[in-house]
Order: sequence, then C-alpha cells, then structure tokens
Amino acid sequence: MPIYNFSAGPAMLPPEVITQIQAELPSLANSGMSILEISHRTKLFENILNTAKADLRALLNISSDYEILFMQGGGTAQFAAVPLNLVTHSKKIAFIDSGYWSMRAIQEAQTLGFTTAILASSQKQNYTNIPKLDISTPLDDYAYLHLTTNSTIEGLSIHAIPNNLKIPLVADMSSNFLAEPYNINDFDLVYAGAQKNLGPAGVSVVIIKKRLLVSYSNITSVMNYHLTAQKNSMFNTPPVFAIYTVGLVLKWLKAQGGVAAIYEKNLKKAQLLYQFIDNSKFYTNNINKKDRSLTNITFTTGSSSLDEKVIQAATAAGCLNLKGHRSFGGLRASLYNAMPLEGVLALIDFLTTFEENNR
Ligand SMILES: *Cc1c(COP(=O)(O)O)cnc(C)c1O
Repeated sequence: MPIYNFSAGPAMLPPEVITQIQAELPSLANSGMSILEISHRTKLFENILNTAKADLRALLNISSDYEILFMQGGGTAQFAAVPLNLVTHSKKIAFIDSGYWSMRAIQEAQTLGFTTAILASSQKQNYTNIPKLDISTPLDDYAYLHLTTNSTIEGLSIHAIPNNLKIPLVADMSSNFLAEPYNINDFDLVYAGAQKNLGPAGVSVVIIKKRLLVSYSNITSVMNYHLTAQKNSMFNTPPVFAIYTVGLVLKWLKAQGGVAAIYEKNLKKAQLLYQFIDNSKFYTNNINKKDRSLTNITFTTGSSSLDEKVIQAATAAGCLNLKGHRSFGGLRASLYNAMPLEGVLALIDFLTTFEENNR
C-alpha cells in the first residue's frame, strides 16, 4: 500500500531526493566523506551552497538587486531578525494579520520592544478570509509592512500582493515558497523556513534587497543580515546537510519544469480536493473561495470525535497526518510540491469511502 504524508511540516520531500541522499550519504562526490561529516570550509560545500543559491535565483527570477541568505532558527528566528535589522529611527511596524503565524510574528516583535500596528485583520471572522488592506492608509511612520503569504494553520493564501506601498514589504512565505509564482520584485524581503516546501528543518532562506543590508554592530551575529551576506551565509557553521538537501530539492524542481509548471500541478491537486469537499455534504471548508490555500487545505466533518475517526481510519489507509493544528482543530491536508497527484486521488478515495460508511 502506498503511503502519503499530508503533514504540514516537516513535510514530505520528493522520493527522488530521498533516494539520492541515500545513495550519496556514505561518500559525497567520491570524497570518501559523508555530507554529514564534511567541513563547511571546503570547496565541495562551497560549491553546494553557491549552486543552491544560483538555482534558487533562476527558479524565482531573482535579480542582482537581491541577496540570498541561509540562516538558522526557523521562521520563528526571522520574526525577530526582521525587526532587528530593518527598524530604524524608532519607527513602528505594520502588519497584516491573517492568522496564527502572523500573530506569532507580531508577538515576537513586541517581545523585543518594537511598536506594532495591525492595519488589517480577519481575526473577527476566525481567519476565514484574507483581510483587506485599506490602500489609503498612510504608511510613512512604519519601517515596513509584514504579511504572511500562506496561513499554514487556517488554510488561507494571499494570491494578490499589495504593491506601490512606498515602504518595504516583508513576507513570511514559509508554507508556500516555490508553490505559487510570486514575483520577488513585489517584495523587499522574503523569508521561509525550509521544512514546509523546500527541504528539511534547520535552514531558512532569506531573500533581501541589497539596499536593506545595512551594517549594524549591535545585532547578534547569527541574526545579522549584513554580516550573513558578507560571509556568504558562513559566518559560523551553517546547517550543512539541510543546505545540501535544499540544493537537491531545487534541482528536482528545475527538472519538474520550475515554479510555473509545479504551480499548474498544485492548482490541479488543490482544485480536485476543494471540489470534492464542496460537493460533499459530509465535509466542509468555510474559507472564502478566492483566499483558499493551495498548500494547506483545512476541512472538518463538523464533529471533533468524527474528525478523530477520520484521522485513525486514514492512517490505516496510508493517508498520514491529517490532523489539524492543535490551535485550530479539524482536519488538514498539506499538498506541497512533493505531493503527487496520486496522493490527492488516494485521499479523495479514502474520504469518499469513509463518508459512505459513516454518513
Ligand atoms: C511553520 C511556520 C513558521 C514557523 O516555523 P519554525 O521553523 O517552526 O520557526 C512561521 N511561519 C509560517 C507561515 C509557518 O508555516
């Protein structure tokens, strides 16, 4: 029986990548050493890192106005690193609040003593839609506007990015990085923890406009963008294995035809599952249709005990990790780039049978 992993993160990686890791693990490029034991101060690793950067640049059409950084501490460390590096002249930070992870970013900035303002929020609608930003709002007092392109827990996405803001736009793209063809030029800074759609846990990617790389001496080194850029993401020991694996995933994505091609597949996968849920009288998804996420699809039977039964039966049928986030409940299927169409079809088959047996 095939097994499909619908986890929201760490999430499934392409099987081809796992196979390649397995084959190369004892000896990387005939070096006699494993990727797990080589020094980052080797030509071998420097090549891996620079190739990963070049492949990412090609996949997202990242111009030379931007620097690519590999950092540690997950998306959560970026909640702190962004304000530490970008807020000057005691300016405030503007946020669009579209769910749990937006709030976590806001709270982290507040913990560090920054002043935050929520310019738009859908909290009152239980995050069933992307809140509208009033474009007439004056933004001069703010250092930047922060948004979350994909709300992993609630299953919402911003598909249309606000532009012409006149202040830097920062995006947490952790859970739909490389899943939709966003234009990097619409942003001044994009960050993403790898373990959702890019690789294993342990590394985050930061894409930052070079003009924002200001030299500050009072920021802890591992969170300092200027220093990280200056040292090609190797001020201290980088997560060697995680960066290597990200490199393999990027090569895999190129072989799939790049972001535009994977986006077509992601659209098809998501449309099939949403269509099934919408046509069913047993399962529901109440997210505003045009704000629905392609990567994290939330749904429920309306009963927590029945949802629990779905999870148990799905596990037995090879559809793993359908449990919604502990803060949100219900069911969630994450359809990241590595999830094949067959996995979605198997899930729909399972859900159909379950409905027939439990209606
Ligand atoms: C998972 C996630 C995070 C947090 O990532 P960590 O690597 O666990 O710190 C932040 N933002 C979004 C949108 C996420 O999905």
